[in-house]
Amino acid sequence: MKRILIYIVAVIGICFIIPIFFTTKFKIKEIFSPNEEKVMLDIEKYSYSDFQTIKLLHKSSGEVEEKPLDEYIAEVVSAEIPADYDIEAIKAQSVSARSYTLYKIIHGSKHENADICDDYACCQAWLSKDNRLSKWKEEERVDNWNKIAEAVNSTIREVATYDGQIIDAFFHSNSGGVTETAANVWGGSDFPYLQSVETSGEDAYAQYSSEVALTEEELLNKLKTEFSDIEIDFSNEESIKIIDYTESNRVKTVRFGNKEIARS
Ligand SMILES: [Zn+2]
Repeated sequence: MKRILIYIVAVIGICFIIPIFFTTKFKIKEIFSPNEEKVMLDIEKYSYSDFQTIKLLHKSSGEVEEKPLDEYIAEVVSAEIPADYDIEAIKAQSVSARSYTLYKIIHGSKHENADICDDYACCQAWLSKDNRLSKWKEEERVDNWNKIAEAVNSTIREVATYDGQIIDAFFHSNSGGVTETAANVWGGSDFPYLQSVETSGEDAYAQYSSEVALTEEELLNKLKTEFSDIEIDFSNEESIKIIDYTESNRVKTVRFGNKEIARS
């Protein structure tokens, strides 16, 4: 029984705490919640003349391509969301991608000569239109692209704002029923519009939940890649223990042997 408990705690730790340290970029895309008391987002239209093109860094080649903003947004949306999703979901993705992109332009990019890159793990996903089309079945290409174009065109110039400013619209595909407060993911200063909110209706998604089972040795070896001097007495129940949780009920601090691993 004790052994099973240890594994369960270990699995919880691996699922919720360890990825925070090993993932360099979390993509949180909050669903806009204009009726939430604490989050008042507006959809506004930006001045078109301010943002006409974007400098896109192609990570694999190192080349920077300058292209019309809306063309870029359509290609991002086509890469970020399946075309068979409801048109309203694709519109929401369009506004989110546009807001995220303009925020990067306004507040400065992490890339020296470009506004954004095409690596989904760094900035946001992107596929050229030709590449995108080639990945769809031939008979679906026209309809799929037209649906993406309709979503982007019908939300043209629309961005999500908070307090009159374009938001840093991080997004992700599933939040397990409740999002996490941004400061609990990255630390540092918080975003008033990236607070924990319930996101019901996600349980049909294939990646809504998952389990990982590890032997003691596997667990220890994984932890040693980050904490070389870690030691765990697996015979002691207290060696692996969740210390506290965040507001969204995710593990905030967990003890593995002589290490307390936390993110705040
Ligand atoms: Zn990037």
